Amino acid sequence: MSGAFDPELWRRDFPVLKRQVHGKPLVYFDNANTAQKPQVVIDAVEGYYRDYTANVARAVHSLGEQATAAYEGARDKLARFLNAGSRDQLVFTSGTTQAINLVAYSYALPRLQPGDEILVTQMEHHANIVPWQLVAARTGATVKAAPITPEGELMLDRFEAMLTPAVKLAAVAHVSNVIGTVNPVAQIARLCRSRGVPLLVDGSQACPHQRVDLQAIGCDFYAMTGHKLFGPTGTGALWARREHLQAMPPFFGGGEMIRTVSFDGTVFADPPHKFEAGTPNIAGFIGLGAAVDYIEGIGLERIQAYESELLAYATDALLGVPGLRLFGRAAHKAAVLSFLVEGVHAHDLATLLDHEGVAVRSGHHCAHPLMQFFGVPATARASLAFYNTREEVDAFVRALDKVRKLLA
Ligand code: PLP
Repeated sequence: MSGAFDPELWRRDFPVLKRQVHGKPLVYFDNANTAQKPQVVIDAVEGYYRDYTANVARAVHSLGEQATAAYEGARDKLARFLNAGSRDQLVFTSGTTQAINLVAYSYALPRLQPGDEILVTQMEHHANIVPWQLVAARTGATVKAAPITPEGELMLDRFEAMLTPAVKLAAVAHVSNVIGTVNPVAQIARLCRSRGVPLLVDGSQACPHQRVDLQAIGCDFYAMTGHKLFGPTGTGALWARREHLQAMPPFFGGGEMIRTVSFDGTVFADPPHKFEAGTPNIAGFIGLGAAVDYIEGIGLERIQAYESELLAYATDALLGVPGLRLFGRAAHKAAVLSFLVEGVHAHDLATLLDHEGVAVRSGHHCAHPLMQFFGVPATARASLAFYNTREEVDAFVRALDKVRKLLA
């Protein structure tokens, strides 16, 4: 699709955006937390429950076949969307958290030895820190973090220097959920590969905002989450190199993940099903497939271009607010704005903004180490999506000004 990007056109697809909150039109600026769902996603989920509820990969009856085709069809769509190489390299998970834990327990835990290291960065989400700490504690390994600049950019030279032979795995966010920094993951992957260190990329915040090409990135593992990609909650995926998936033992055991079971031994199914024990979130993944179709219909390149204009507009507007401190000024960043207003607590900001109809998140954003780096307990965060508008940014800044005058 070509022509000027008109967010008003896409807004109509999102029923919730017609809502009022406290008598004001909703301004939803909490997209990094979870994104809203277009009607096509809601319809896809409802359609499964209404017309063809059945389990997948078990029944030969028509409903079972239809459900399996839709569920596995979603895997095909996501594989194309991410340029995954092969659909078999995409393991469905409940989200990024489960995807990273799968790598931690199935890949890292059996390999780590006392003295080994896992290298992350100062800007990681807890989901990309805590699983590594858990497996490190069980193996005698340690987790260390590469530093960032005051602008919130990864110090690549320091990261490289920290890639010593002790490092057995590196794990880096593609895009920071707090400050929007876009990390040069292809370059990081090259550094890691040249030293034989496997790299996991946490793509939670990248997939909704920019084209993710797994073949071009060249990492070993890529984790993503569906609910930030305008799909249902409880959906996500782990992409991994084929050789890793072949070598990794299953994380959960049960139905769906086996070829044969006997008390003399069980033969597991091939990846990805080896890692998908039990009845999955069928409706959720069918919804995720619809979300992928929807986003492809708009075009991620157009989304990215529009969001970067909106980010520039919002950044300028925020910098005009007296006493406002903006966290993270990376040269390459996604439309995420973390901020504080002098003398005002982040939670008070978010609560009073909500009274004006504006939804922002406040708190540590599951990134304590990054808060420690900035020396603050919490920030307020406005995170934008392609359905947000300049008018909403104006309303947000007006609301912020009102709150500031009230509290500061
Ligand atoms: N990593 C990052 C960068 C995130 O922003 C999030 C969610 O906020 C996660 C991981 C965890 O994702 P989920 O809760 O969907 O598993």
